[in-house]
Amino acid sequence: MRRKSTLPYYPSLERYEIIKKLGDGAFSDVYRARDKRTGRNVAIKVAQKYTDDDPMIDLQHLHPSIKKKPRVTERANILKEVQIMRNIHHPNIVQLLQFTESRQNYFLVLDLCEGGELFHRIVDLTYFSEELSRHIIGQLAQAVYHLHEECGVRKFHAFDDASKKDEGVFIKDVGGGGIGQIKLADFGLSKVVWNSSALTPCGTLGYTAPEIVCDQKYSKGWTCGLLAVARGQFAFLSPWWDPISDEAKNLIQGLLCVDPDKRYTVRQLLHHPWLTGVSLNTSPST
Ligand code: ADP
Repeated sequence: MRRKSTLPYYPSLERYEIIKKLGDGAFSDVYRARDKRTGRNVAIKVAQKYTDDDPMIDLQHLHPSIKKKPRVTERANILKEVQIMRNIHHPNIVQLLQFTESRQNYFLVLDLCEGGELFHRIVDLTYFSEELSRHIIGQLAQAVYHLHEECGVRKFHAFDDASKKDEGVFIKDVGGGGIGQIKLADFGLSKVVWNSSALTPCGTLGYTAPEIVCDQKYSKGWTCGLLAVARGQFAFLSPWWDPISDEAKNLIQGLLCVDPDKRYTVRQLLHHPWLTGVSLNTSPST
C-alpha cells in the first residue's frame, strides 16, 4: 500500500503515523508523528547517510585555523550522537526515544517540542524582559550543567547556519502563549566533544569560544556562549542597556570573558546572583 507521507519507508517506523513535516535542518528533515501504540506525539529526524562523493565543507574562508572537514553525518558521528543521547535524561534536554537506520537514512525519534524554536519565539516577542531571560537561561544552565558535570560531555556547540538561524534550543510547550519548558537539542551531529583531547574546531564560528577561533587548546566550555567575541570587544550601549540590572551585565561579562581561566563556568552561572535572585548591590539588611 502506498504511504501518504514523504518519510522514507522503513519497517520499524510502522508504529508511527507521520502527520507533517516540521522543518528541515542542515543535515536532516524532521517530521511530526504519532506513536500509534501510546498515542504520544513525537518528532522524527531523518538524516541522510554520508556518501563518499559528498563534497568537503571548506570553512577556511571563515578563519584560516579551520581545516577542511567532511560532512558530519558520517556513521561514526551519528552513532556517537545516539550513544550520547541515549545516556542523557534531563527535563531540559530533548530525549531520544528510538533510533533506527535504513540503507540510506538514520532515524532519530525524539521528544516533540511543540513550541518550536526559541529563536523564532524571541523574534516574535520583539521585547524580551530580564525575567523571561532568567526563566530561559536558568533552564539552559541546568541542561549544560548536566551535560558537563554529570554526563562528561565537555563541549556543546549550537548550530547556526547563516541562512536559517537555528540554535538547537526548543520550547517544549508554549504554556499560555508564553515560553514554558526549554529543551536543548541537536547537540550530537559533531557538536559534542567528549573531552578536551578532542580539539578539532567544530560547530559554527558565531558560537565558538575565542580560544578555538584562535586555534588554541581549551580547557573550559564556552558555557552559554552567545557570540564569538575573539577580542572581547562588546559594549552595553545606552539607552538600550540602561534599564538592565548590574547583575545581568556582570553575568554577560563573565560568560563572554575571552580568558578561559577567568570565564564563568556553568557552576558559577548557576550560582550567579542574577539567577539566584540575590542582588550584587543589596546588603542583607536592606
Ligand atoms: P539539523 O541537525 O539537521 O540541522 P535540526 O535539529 O535543526 O536539524 O531540526 C530541523 C528543524 O526541525 C528545526 O528547525 C525544528 O523546526 C524542527 N525540529 C527538530 N527537532 C525537533 C523536535 N524535537 N521537536 C519539534 N521540532 C523539531
